[in-house]
Amino acid sequence: MTFEQLGLNAPILNALKELDYHAPSPIQEKAIPPALAGRDVLGCAQTGTGKTCAFAAPILQRLSAETVSGRPIRALVLTPTRELAIQIGESFEAYGKYLSLRHAVIFGGVGQNPQVEALRRGVDILVATPGRLMDLHDQGFVSLDELDIFVLDEADRMLDMGFIHDVKKILKWLPRQKQTLFFSATMPPEISDLVNSLLHDPARVAV
Ligand code: AMP
Repeated sequence: MTFEQLGLNAPILNALKELDYHAPSPIQEKAIPPALAGRDVLGCAQTGTGKTCAFAAPILQRLSAETVSGRPIRALVLTPTRELAIQIGESFEAYGKYLSLRHAVIFGGVGQNPQVEALRRGVDILVATPGRLMDLHDQGFVSLDELDIFVLDEADRMLDMGFIHDVKKILKWLPRQKQTLFFSATMPPEISDLVNSLLHDPARVAV
């Protein structure tokens, strides 16, 4: 199987080639086609399986295919830790090298001003940890009204780290009509309840 066969287009294929990604990993092979088609995806996969590319490449392709006026946030990736947020931001940078989409990464423990400035300039894709997202949203710096794609990364770790209440609060700010890509290494009952309330006829992918 090749990345071409998964339906990815030239700008992304060229970026992946430069990163020496020769062939898709199993999670990429299974998740990219339904994600590109606009379906919800439930992925059971851990870090290290290539799941970042499995959600980032379809997001980049889908957002670059449509034109919008202004620069509303059209994709949100929620992830539990600042390290993951930074890595995911670097992945969007690398995979989106030949596209003109903008992204920002927001997380706690550092000053908010550079993050607020990035949001003011306008971003297509926002990568965030829950606490800082809530802070900046409550201060009016983040509008999610035009969101098309939502990614919940490492849902089970969100639960372990005590973020599940924050996540549920954030979910209420998102439009009902959206594509959701949901990743969790395990499916404890609270996570499967969330899956059932959030996902519509998802493509189920386990690696
Ligand atoms: P992730 O699970 O998304 O954190 O990715 C784990 C590591 O694998 C990262 O360093 C990626 O750059 C790398 N990676 C992801 N997909 C591929 C691929 N198809 N071929 C080679 N390396 C990859």
